[in-house]
Amino acid sequence: MGKIISVINQKGGVGKTTTAVNFAASLSIFEKKTLLIDMDPQGNATSMSSIKEKSFKTIYDMMASSDVTAIYNTELPFLKVIPCNSDLTGAEIELLDVENREFVLKETLAKVKDKFDYIIIDSPPSLNILTVNNMVACDGVLIPIQCEYFALEGLSRILETLEAIQEFNENIKIYGILLTMYDKRLKLTFEVENDVREHFGDLVFKTVIPRNVKLSESPSFGQPISLYDISSIGSKKYMELAEEFLKKYNKKSKK
Ligand code: ATP
Ligand code: MG
Repeated sequence: MGKIISVINQKGGVGKTTTAVNFAASLSIFEKKTLLIDMDPQGNATSMSSIKEKSFKTIYDMMASSDVTAIYNTELPFLKVIPCNSDLTGAEIELLDVENREFVLKETLAKVKDKFDYIIIDSPPSLNILTVNNMVACDGVLIPIQCEYFALEGLSRILETLEAIQEFNENIKIYGILLTMYDKRLKLTFEVENDVREHFGDLVFKTVIPRNVKLSESPSFGQPISLYDISSIGSKKYMELAEEFLKKYNKKSKK
């Protein structure tokens, strides 16, 4: 049975999409059957994941009708994608009238869950019915944070949200907290890292993602970092993250 992991943080621009795309790509390079789902109407994960089709159906179409599948191939053989576009904004309003509206994505994914080892979902920087669906559908969350002031406050708000979600998803777990855009030249980075590790211990991934210009360039080429520049530090670190994750949660993994 596949595991569903939502990449969440209500704060904008902390590296959710970069992490969702590149973590998914890295898991797929370890030959895990991986599905990336874009649940952000901005569609950034869709444009980074090298789908070849120009027009495509979306996660919104799948949630609206059980007859639709919108799973597309990418340039990476073990990575597939369910894309998204601004239509998903409409879903937010339509969902408000649906019975069991918190469970629509969960029901949609029940049919595809078995076909994958890992399903990674990218989220928007907001807390709305789409993000609730996202957290209800998942087995657990991966939380990227930036090493900046108020990082701990931000994290405690996310924990409060997760506690509230337990009403709908009792067993939701935290797969890990990931420090992104890590800049070891800054004293603040170390201070925040120490605080976060002290409070959250093993929940914080040992792997950190440094600031890397290749990671910020790859979206404009519509590619995950492992296709854009496999030798970059960004690519190596997302591979390292996947390896750390698999060692921790997938005991059968050899690599
Ligand atoms: P949003 O909340 O708007 O969805 P997000 O949390 O998904 O944002 P990203 O889009 O992944 O954040 O990252 C924000 C910006 O920072 C992007 O321009 C991205 O290319 C850049 N970026 C992300 N991670 C890194 C990194 N490690 N090094 C350099 N640039 C990065
Ligand atoms: Mg994003």
